[in-house]
Amino acid sequence: MTDFLNGQVRVLIDDITAQQVDAVVNAANSTLLGGAGVDGAIHRAGGPSILEECRELRRTRYPEGLPAGDAVITTGGNLPARFVIHTVGPIYGQHGGREAELLAACYRHSLTLAAERGLQSIAFPAISTGAYGYPKAEAAAVSSAAIRDFLLPESAADENVALHSTLTEVRLIFFQPRDARMFMQYQKFEKP
Ligand code: ADP
Repeated sequence: MTDFLNGQVRVLIDDITAQQVDAVVNAANSTLLGGAGVDGAIHRAGGPSILEECRELRRTRYPEGLPAGDAVITTGGNLPARFVIHTVGPIYGQHGGREAELLAACYRHSLTLAAERGLQSIAFPAISTGAYGYPKAEAAAVSSAAIRDFLLPESAADENVALHSTLTEVRLIFFQPRDARMFMQYQKFEKP
C-alpha cells in the first residue's frame, strides 16, 4: 500500500531531483542560497539559474531570509520539474514547541503555491528530517495530516477550496527504504 487518498498521494523511494512533476519541493534553509542534503542536490542538478532567482527573491522580498514555514517558487532550471518550491522547515527543538505547526505550514504553503499556479503534480522530500533533526515518525504524522487537510477540503479549515482542484498527484519521496517504511507506519492520511 503506497497510495493514499484515492491515489492522489504516492509514496516512492527515489531521488527528488529526478522527479518528472510540475514542481519539486526543496528543503531549503532561510538564506535561500543553497546548502547540503536535498538543497545541495537540487541546486547541483538544476544549475545556476535557480540560485540566481533565489538571490533575487532575497534581494527583493526576503532581505532577512525566508522564515521557517514559508515557501517561495522559482523555475526548475535544468531539472525535469518545471518549478522548484523552496520551503524552510523548522529546526527541531529551536522553535519553542511550534515545530509541528511550522512543519505543517511548509506543506500547506507549498501546496498552495502549486495550486495557485494551476499545477497538477508536486513531489516533496521529507522536510526537516535530515540536518534539521525532526524525528521521522513525528514528521510522518504531521506532514501526512497537513497534506490530507489540504486535499480534503471538508477536513480543512481553509477557505480557498477552489484552489485545491488542480493538484491530482502528490509524491512523497524517500531516499532510504527504511524511511519510507517508517513513514507508512506513522502516516495519518485517514481522518482521525
Ligand atoms: P532538512 O535540512 O530540512 O532536514 P535535508 O536535506 O537535510 O533537509 O534532509 C531531508 C530528508 O531528505 C532526509 O530524510 C534525507 O534523507 C532526504 N534526502 C536527502 N537527499 C535526498 C534526495 N536527493 N532525494 C530525496 N530525499 C533526499
